[in-house]
Amino acid sequence: MTLRANAAGSDMLLAIWREFESGKLAHAYLFTGEKGVGKKTFSNVLAKAILCQAEGDKPCGNCRSCKRFESKTHGNVYYPVPQAKKTIIGVEDLRNILDELSRASLDGGRRVIVIHNAEKMTPASQNCLLKTLEEAPEGVFFLLVTDMERAILPTIRSRCRVVRISPWHPDRILRTLTEKGVSQSRARELTDLCEGSIGKALQMLDDEGYWTDRELVRKTFLNVKRVADVPAASQLLKDKKDDADRLLQILEQELRLFISQIAQNSRDEHGFFPEQWKAADVQSLCRIQDAVLKCKQYRLSNVGWAANAENLMMKIAEEARKWQQ
Ligand SMILES: [Zn+2]
Repeated sequence: MTLRANAAGSDMLLAIWREFESGKLAHAYLFTGEKGVGKKTFSNVLAKAILCQAEGDKPCGNCRSCKRFESKTHGNVYYPVPQAKKTIIGVEDLRNILDELSRASLDGGRRVIVIHNAEKMTPASQNCLLKTLEEAPEGVFFLLVTDMERAILPTIRSRCRVVRISPWHPDRILRTLTEKGVSQSRARELTDLCEGSIGKALQMLDDEGYWTDRELVRKTFLNVKRVADVPAASQLLKDKKDDADRLLQILEQELRLFISQIAQNSRDEHGFFPEQWKAADVQSLCRIQDAVLKCKQYRLSNVGWAANAENLMMKIAEEARKWQQ
C-alpha cells in the first residue's frame, strides 16, 4: 500500500504525505495515539517510502529497496528494541545505532530509525537519542511511535513533529473491512467492537478462537436470566479455565459496547444483544462491570475458575431479575 493510500481518510496523515511529496519531510516524527489506530503501520509505510528508489507513488513495493525492506534485510533501516528478556530500550541498545548514524551512510542513501514502543526508552536512552536529534545527520529520519506520549521527554517531543493519530471513524472502518471482502454483517460487528482501531478489527477477524469464545460468552454470561440458569451455564464454562482471561475480556468489551449504545440511544442497532438485555439500564450494567473486575481480581488471588465464574453469573442473574420486573 502506498503512503497516500495509507493516509487516506485522515487530514493529519495526508499532511505528512504532502510533506513527503514536496520533499519537506521533517527529520523526526513522533506518532502517538491509542493502541491499534495504525501508528505502527503508518510509520512502517513512511519508512519504506522514504527509502523507496522508484519514481511516482511510493513505496512502490517493487524496487530493490522495497524488496529488501519487506524481507527485513534493508541495511538502512534500524529498529532499536529491548535486548532479550528485557523490557526497556537501554542506552546500549541505541548507542551502536546512533554511532553508525553519525557517520556517513555507506551507499550514500537515506537512513531511517524506527522506534516502536518509544516509551520503552529509559530517560538515559532518550537523552542519548536527544543528542543525535539535535545534530540530525543529513538524510537520517527518526520515526518514534508510542501510545504513551507522556513517557517521552519534553525535550524529545519538542524536536519531533508530533502526530496524534485519532481513532478511525466507524464509517471508515466499515468501508475498509468491506473492501477487504468481509461480509457486511461481520464488518458491522467488528466496527462496533474494535473501538476505532482498524488494527484490532483485523486482528479479531483473523482470530478463529475469538469468535468461538465470543459465542461461549453469549451462551453463558449473557444468557443467564435467573439464578436457575446458572448451573447449566456453569457446565459450559467449567473446562474453560485456560480461556478465562479472554472470556472475561470479551464480556467486558460487550458491556462497554452495550453501555455506549445506550448512551447514544442506539440500543442494539445491529441486533446482537440477547433479548433479555434490552431492558437493562446503565447503572445495572456498571454493577456487572464491577463484578467482572472483582472476578478478575479473584483470579489473581487464585480463586478457582468454576466457582468464580459461577459467582459472577449469580451476580448477573441478580441484576437481570431487576430489569425483567
Ligand atoms: Zn520502491
